[in-house]
Amino acid sequence: MTEAVQLSARKSAAVARGVSTRGIFAVRAENAELWDADGRRFIDFAAGIAVNNTGHRHPRVMAAVAEQAQAFTHTCFHVAPYEGYIALAERLNAATPGDFEKKTMLVTTGAEAVENAIKMARAFTGRSGVIAFAGGFHGRTLLGMALTGKVAPYKKGFGAMPPEIMHAPFPNAFHGVTEADALGQLERLFASSVDPDRVAAIIIEPVQGEGGFNIAPAGFLRALRDICDRHGIVLIADEVQSGMARTGRMFGFDHSGVAPDLVTMAKGLAGGFPLSAVTGRAEIVDAPNPGGVGGTYAGNPLAVAASHAVLDVIRDEDLCARAAEIGDRIRARLNQIAARQGMECIGEVRGLGAMNAIELVADRETNAPDASLTAAIVAEAEARGLILLSCGTRYNVIRLLPPLTIPMAQLDEALSIIEASIEAAVM
Ligand code: PMP
Repeated sequence: MTEAVQLSARKSAAVARGVSTRGIFAVRAENAELWDADGRRFIDFAAGIAVNNTGHRHPRVMAAVAEQAQAFTHTCFHVAPYEGYIALAERLNAATPGDFEKKTMLVTTGAEAVENAIKMARAFTGRSGVIAFAGGFHGRTLLGMALTGKVAPYKKGFGAMPPEIMHAPFPNAFHGVTEADALGQLERLFASSVDPDRVAAIIIEPVQGEGGFNIAPAGFLRALRDICDRHGIVLIADEVQSGMARTGRMFGFDHSGVAPDLVTMAKGLAGGFPLSAVTGRAEIVDAPNPGGVGGTYAGNPLAVAASHAVLDVIRDEDLCARAAEIGDRIRARLNQIAARQGMECIGEVRGLGAMNAIELVADRETNAPDASLTAAIVAEAEARGLILLSCGTRYNVIRLLPPLTIPMAQLDEALSIIEASIEAAVM
């Protein structure tokens, strides 16, 4: 019996069923490679779900964490604050879009960053309504799942959602929702369901992650900025997946030319250590009462040290430019594959920087989704040594999330595995 089979059995017996996993049990990882309990080597195109943008165990991140561990690992920032947190807030205030006074709070997970951004928007506006988008993902806490624009598996069986959270359509040309359609629906929501004067915030991912790597057109983000300005609504960019150089710019919103009022960050922020942040307009971040936001582990010193090193690496290794280069190479190769005869299952290749995806269809005329083919390709790739993730509201999108530090030879090796895996799965 393989180690993976044994560990799978123990996992099923001991770990909550709702925590779903696949069968790759990690024992070691380095930059873009991961080795499992059976000694199998993988190229990691999941990067811990867009966390290891700087690769597994970047030497500078490891050194920063080791150095911090020699000093202290936890004091609780509310009890004995430390300079690293303050310095990180200063850096994030400078790095996020918008030329206005900003402040930052640190927490631990993406969902917590989202929760706190909503609390700030509510405290600042004195309103409670929130508009999110269909297909969006914002976390698994009570508010996070309510904001998430997908019922199964995220909301199913979990009871009543908090009130005054509404969803508008996300523009998606491939699925026939134009930018004008999406804006029209938002206006109709204001006419039929909620007075815009009751809306505290609009929250949007500039590139939807779990929802299928759908890219919000720059014009749409600019229109949202106008709507928010007109009605005094706080515009929140959820950059948990799209941020930290992934799209070829520091943040997805940087491509639009407009600044959100608040930005949520997590995942790539600390290169594998649990850390998240809300950064934005000082007066909004300052709206909650002292003591109203924070937490025991919020801004953990080891994670803060890691994050400083991550920001240094993004700057010194020019990872924004590298993300753009990786993205160009991925899309060129995927488009070549899609143009081949027999590859009609590839409905669309899309991406922004190094956030790329293929949408798999049963029929190019109707774009009917092919979820079983998608699962088969992911399995074929795994058998050939490549970790891929699927996503999409219709379970038919494969996302490519290599570390931005991946050697180009490994990138090409992985793209060849993808080609072979599609060939094997369509046969
Ligand atoms: N927002 C977005 C855009 C995400 O992609 C995710 C995680 N996939 C979250 C929020 C939630 O982050 P976490 O799992 O760290 O709570």
